Amino acid sequence: MGERLKRVAILGSTGSVGTQTLDVIRSFPGELRVVALASGRNDKLLQEQILEFRPRYVHSGNGPLPQSDGITQVSDLVQLATCPDADIVVVATVGVAGLRPTIAALRAGRPVALANKEVIVIAGEQVMAASRESGTPILPVDSEPSAVWQCMAGETAAVRRLIITASGGAFRGRTWDSLADVSPEEALKHPTWRMGRKITIDSATLANKAFEVVEAHYLFGIPYEQIEVVIHRQSIVHSMVEFADGCVKAQIGPPDMRFPIQVALFHPDRRANPRLPRWNAVETGSLTFENMEPARYPCFNLILEYAMRGGTWPAAVAGADEAAVDLFLGRAIRFTSIPEVIKTTLAAHSPIESPSVDDAIGAARWARDFAMAFAAGRAPR
Ligand code: MG
Repeated sequence: MGERLKRVAILGSTGSVGTQTLDVIRSFPGELRVVALASGRNDKLLQEQILEFRPRYVHSGNGPLPQSDGITQVSDLVQLATCPDADIVVVATVGVAGLRPTIAALRAGRPVALANKEVIVIAGEQVMAASRESGTPILPVDSEPSAVWQCMAGETAAVRRLIITASGGAFRGRTWDSLADVSPEEALKHPTWRMGRKITIDSATLANKAFEVVEAHYLFGIPYEQIEVVIHRQSIVHSMVEFADGCVKAQIGPPDMRFPIQVALFHPDRRANPRLPRWNAVETGSLTFENMEPARYPCFNLILEYAMRGGTWPAAVAGADEAAVDLFLGRAIRFTSIPEVIKTTLAAHSPIESPSVDDAIGAARWARDFAMAFAAGRAPR
């Protein structure tokens, strides 16, 4: 029993994927154990998690916690991600914060269950190189890449096409022009998934889907022109893979993030978890697929167009989008200004070809700062 115990480090433990990861771990007390927890701002929830899960290592973005008997507090996420006892590192942070810890964990031979897609968008080539060179797998936790990964398992033949599904987000069925006055509260009402704030806004603009295309391109080495997106309102088919002979595999199940989390934690095994919902085909009834109309989602093509240029472009796109989403959530800009902020920022970007990790992080930070300054009416640099 002791040998089968898998020890888990979680970065971003108080966020949506972090808390759902802990919920999966709760279902398997004899098989999964928390060894390290890190959160950004929510010390109250982190303290509760420490009491319940008794990790050995902890990091809070607010600085050291007051009382922590028997716990080692580490000063940064890289140290936490490479702590000696972890068998797997769950990276569930938001934005650029998860990048260095992901690369460090991979280089230290710790498989990374990756929920933070910006990590791949910002530095896809470098992250994949760290995985390849150390022979350490990246286990996708995002539902669409997880679906692609599950469909590709056991296949050795060439993939002809990835078909990534999109729910269409909070405003599906509405025209872009009718969204000028929508509030953050309206945009945060996702029709099918329970997720964090940044990703829920990105789902409403379909920026999230553009990032998933970039993510799939790097994770699976599939050329961009072989990746398609279709609107699938029910969020039951999580993505599909077409092989050379035209056969298509789909991965299907209820829209619940605990499925892809559990798949990553137990890979290559699977476990019965009675606390997860079971899919009922007859209850679902029908599955629908529609064209994704680019005019309804201007962020999608804009983001992909720039991200496909490579170099520091994808990093700058991620930084600009992060700022635009924050500005919208803070009511500083309209929902429909999100693509304008991204576009204006990218028009000012000086790209670097073959960037280092530092260059990529620098480009993401530059874009974020530029977009914030631009929106505040300050002269951006
Ligand atoms: Mg997703």
